Amino acid sequence: MSLRVGCPRCAAPVARVPDSDGGWTCPDHGEVAALWQPTTASYDDLVAHLGHAGSFPTYLPWPLGPGWTVTDFAVVADDVGARATMTCVSGTSALDGPVDVFVVSEEPGTGLGARIAGLGPTGRADPGEEVGDGPATVKVRLGSFPVGLWPVSVSGTDGEWDRSVVVGEAEGRWLWLVLRPASAILLLRDDWILRDVSETGPQLVALPFGGPAPSW
Ligand SMILES: [Zn+2]
Repeated sequence: MSLRVGCPRCAAPVARVPDSDGGWTCPDHGEVAALWQPTTASYDDLVAHLGHAGSFPTYLPWPLGPGWTVTDFAVVADDVGARATMTCVSGTSALDGPVDVFVVSEEPGTGLGARIAGLGPTGRADPGEEVGDGPATVKVRLGSFPVGLWPVSVSGTDGEWDRSVVVGEAEGRWLWLVLRPASAILLLRDDWILRDVSETGPQLVALPFGGPAPSW
């Protein structure tokens, strides 16, 4: 197993809970479901990722544009099952230069999407009431199923980096898209398809992996 373990909500190192059956504890967040992520994104690590994720979906924008690669992924799971998955694809656009697109699917309260969105220092684990307020700004499709997305403000956070965040809800889970730089939100159109990689099967072999993983 080459995936490394961490806290879903922060970068602090986690430790095994003594006398537990696979529990992990973070100095800041207490007992947490472990975050598993590769050192460098690769086919073998994605197979290991999907093993941790089980039946929980792992969404990738599909198809990837020319020159775009899968640069990172992660799964949050405990002995009950997966709570969240994340993928990141990176490439370039004529207007934005280098672009990172993160897709997070998670059970409410997990906090991985909020962390990647840059909301971690606010203590929030979930988006706010903006999700579902008024018409959706944009829709993406999970397979053939349309999912509305609403912008989530990241102003007031310490703003280490420039990003846009949109969030929707599908099957009782949050769906976060975080795009860097913020201007890359214009790439997001209603015909975007997010495909569940756990159902992709042998086509996994053809996925382009690239590094380095963007920081988050
Ligand atoms: Zn933590």
